[in-house]
Amino acid sequence: MKRKLYLYNTATARKEQFVPQGGDDSGGPVGVYCCGPTVYNYAHIGNLRTYIFEDVLKRALTACGYSVRHVVNITDVGHLVSDADTGEDKMEAGAAREGKSVWDIAAFYTAKFMEDIDALNILQPDLWPKATDHIPQMINHIKTLEEKGFTYRTADGIYFDTAKFPAYCDFAGIDPASLRAGERVDMGDKRNVTDFALWKFSPLDAKRQMEWDSPWGRGFPGWHIECSAMAIEHLAQPLDIHCGGADHVRVHHTNEIAQSEAATGERFANFWLHGEFLVLDKGKMAKSGGNFVTLDTLREQGVSPLGYRMFCYTAHYRSPLKFSYEGAAAAEQGLLKLRKIISSIDKSNGSVNNERVSRALEPFMAALCDDLNMPRAVAALWDGLRDDGLTGAEKIAFAEEADKALGLDLLTPLDGGQSRAEISVEVDGCKILIISDGGISSELKNDIIEKAVLRKKSRAAKDFKTADIIRGQFVDMGVAVKDLPDGTTECMTL
Ligand SMILES: [Zn+2]
Repeated sequence: MKRKLYLYNTATARKEQFVPQGGDDSGGPVGVYCCGPTVYNYAHIGNLRTYIFEDVLKRALTACGYSVRHVVNITDVGHLVSDADTGEDKMEAGAAREGKSVWDIAAFYTAKFMEDIDALNILQPDLWPKATDHIPQMINHIKTLEEKGFTYRTADGIYFDTAKFPAYCDFAGIDPASLRAGERVDMGDKRNVTDFALWKFSPLDAKRQMEWDSPWGRGFPGWHIECSAMAIEHLAQPLDIHCGGADHVRVHHTNEIAQSEAATGERFANFWLHGEFLVLDKGKMAKSGGNFVTLDTLREQGVSPLGYRMFCYTAHYRSPLKFSYEGAAAAEQGLLKLRKIISSIDKSNGSVNNERVSRALEPFMAALCDDLNMPRAVAALWDGLRDDGLTGAEKIAFAEEADKALGLDLLTPLDGGQSRAEISVEVDGCKILIISDGGISSELKNDIIEKAVLRKKSRAAKDFKTADIIRGQFVDMGVAVKDLPDGTTECMTL
């Protein structure tokens, strides 16, 4: 018996009850395809917000009684800087930037991405297919499109003729009239402004590191064809659910649908879910502006990866979320408080009545199954923990169940848990290690560093009076100071 799950489907622009291909009792796993990272740089926390929402979706499907086959691709070739199939390949540009081979760049940033995924408690997908491992499938897909008359050749590649796919504008609700504005942009040899490259030829004047032979000439695949080829290769058609960031709707997913459905003659995916942007004060977080925050940047500010996960739950995945360090630090504190409450519950108090636990979970599950409404789910978690009608043992069972969907490690003991932040800095030759449970404000951090440096200098100058005064100030601030054997000043917030 499956629990009802309602999801907002971009394809129909409404919330619908999720039913897998073949019905609720088909027994097969729910196929979920998520557009993965282009591994040419670190993932910024805006990208990671999307993977967190997709992880919650997977956990919600599981909580509703479905098994899931989850595929996330790795784009290691063919993603050009511009959506208009122009500009450099992001991977080749990344390699040039760092003076490494494209293959090394891909391996390095793929490993970094995996570390981020683990740190965020994102469950591993069943498969991480790499674009460079699927070139033959992409070539076959393009051949099929060619046989069916959907392609044409230009000087720089093989293109999909969107005029031959009448439903092209439907998915994103594009007004065909608005496309005429595109006539002013550089069309190259394209027939329509929305046409996109399936295969790009290697440039004649420069040697690419990644290129392959094809029936049309040496070159590399377009970014969009990668996802279609890998999704069709690894999941039953149509896909039950296809996910991605909201920025994918108008071009990338519209193109995936066109080229997939033109080739197979069938619907590509039943449900389309899109996560909204994380917004910085200066606008959407993007790598191109050079202004991007990674998990490491957050750690330096005392916000743990799971504190960031908690921060993402302060907004619905379909709403833009405004990022601030204050907001993230507050979420970190909220997470810490939840852990403290849970660790203070007496597990041995009373027995567990499963019915009572299920009843207590009901508001939480209702929020989760109402299009993954995490702000409401987190509020329901707090309510459940305050419910005096539950025994201690039942509260623990309730928290355990809720955490299966939340992925916040709520039952991890506080000492040594992930919310403990360690910040290591070196200022004026003075090594300082700041240890704090949960988030630390940048104001407090700077204050600690300033005092630690002054204390060290005072001691070096044998000015023990000043050093003692500073030690007293640390006590007033609730910071324990210790000198480690290697000369590092350890400052632990109490
Ligand atoms: Zn994709």
